[in-house]
Amino acid sequence: MTKKTLHVAPYITDIIARLQEAGYETYVVGGAIRDLMLDREPKDYDISTSATPEQVKDVFGRRRARIIGRRFKLVHLYQGVEIIEISTFRRMPEKSVKVPDKLKDQPIPENMIFHDNEFGTAEEDAWRRDFTVNALFYDPVSHKMIDHTGSGIDDIKNGVVRAIGDASLRFEEDPVRMLRALKLVGQYGFKLSPGTESSLRECLPLITHAAESRLTLELEKILQSIHCSQIFSSFYQYGFLSYFLPFLHDNWNTPAREYVMELLEERNQRVTQGRYRVSVSLAVAAITLPFAEMLVGFGEKGKLWEYSAETNDQLCNLVTEVFKPHNLVKRLVFSAQRILIMQTAFLHFQKTTKVITMQGYAHARELLMIQNAVTWHSKELPVKWPHEIHHSTHGDKRR
Ligand code: ATP
Ligand code: MG
Repeated sequence: MTKKTLHVAPYITDIIARLQEAGYETYVVGGAIRDLMLDREPKDYDISTSATPEQVKDVFGRRRARIIGRRFKLVHLYQGVEIIEISTFRRMPEKSVKVPDKLKDQPIPENMIFHDNEFGTAEEDAWRRDFTVNALFYDPVSHKMIDHTGSGIDDIKNGVVRAIGDASLRFEEDPVRMLRALKLVGQYGFKLSPGTESSLRECLPLITHAAESRLTLELEKILQSIHCSQIFSSFYQYGFLSYFLPFLHDNWNTPAREYVMELLEERNQRVTQGRYRVSVSLAVAAITLPFAEMLVGFGEKGKLWEYSAETNDQLCNLVTEVFKPHNLVKRLVFSAQRILIMQTAFLHFQKTTKVITMQGYAHARELLMIQNAVTWHSKELPVKWPHEIHHSTHGDKRR
């Protein structure tokens, strides 16, 4: 245990203090500690406690605290518009693997885990986590840092992703951990420890056993990340992209893919500077656009495509193709398609209020501005197509 002062948000410290006052051992865990140690602003905070979900609910009251999940219960604590996840310490499940009925007929890796919901101590909870850099526990009330695995602090300092325990076994238990490892490589510039790297290379094909819904959820999270281009690069570097986004993998060494990276980098900068809120549909459209120019357009960067009755369907099909095998929700495909279709309208139409008030204008304009910053450098376009007049009230901000 070491003393360390990390700048945990005061409302999180208050929540932890309340649970501690009620007699429960409670810490900040996970990504927030990693981010704070690296002087980055945490995306959100995960809290772990010895209190059971019911006990957490008793401390905060049923209006603020809701128990969610069926098999794996945790508490969602409402803090203004934010929701904070509070989970109870858990331990590694027993090795009696019960395969869910719907997977009974499929070949399943021997060690795959389907249940992970047995309460445990703080130390047991640290050991069931995926990587040493993700297993630090921090008490913001007493400023105590606990590194149960013994190498979390050093690994953060040295930028090393090290699986806890036997890396091959941990990847077999849950193949999504490989994606999580490579995300850490991409977003922080970390390296895999030699043992973790060789196990990952060997276990990569197991990713096909991961639940599709989890992978698609991860994809959405990556698309929202300002590090998404670096994450894709690390996926490519380790051969993971051929499973995760085979279209992007197959087209990696093309100018269109390089253009994708330029567009994403520009988006990331604009988000970082607070000029735009991150949007999944915008990212989907930005990733598809360079391929649309090549495959259904004029075959040249920045030239887009000729608008015709068929373009709608072609763009829609292309979005699906670029993101297969993920089944993006229809709403997302349509809003990406709408953003793409509007690009030609921007170039060829005279400015009309009708276009400016169209649903999805804000995102479509953003993609136009991104292309402009990367490719066209026009001074007129931002004036011709101003920020939306009506701030969207139909909730399409994030999508
Ligand atoms: P982010 O900043 O993206 O939220 P994170 O590491 O906090 O990164 P979460 O998905 O919020 O990611 O998970 C919180 C913590 O839960 C992780 O830091 C890790 O300790 C643990 N965890 C998450 N997924 C797994 C997994 N598949 N196997 C083992 N532990 C996991
Ligand atoms: Mg987290």
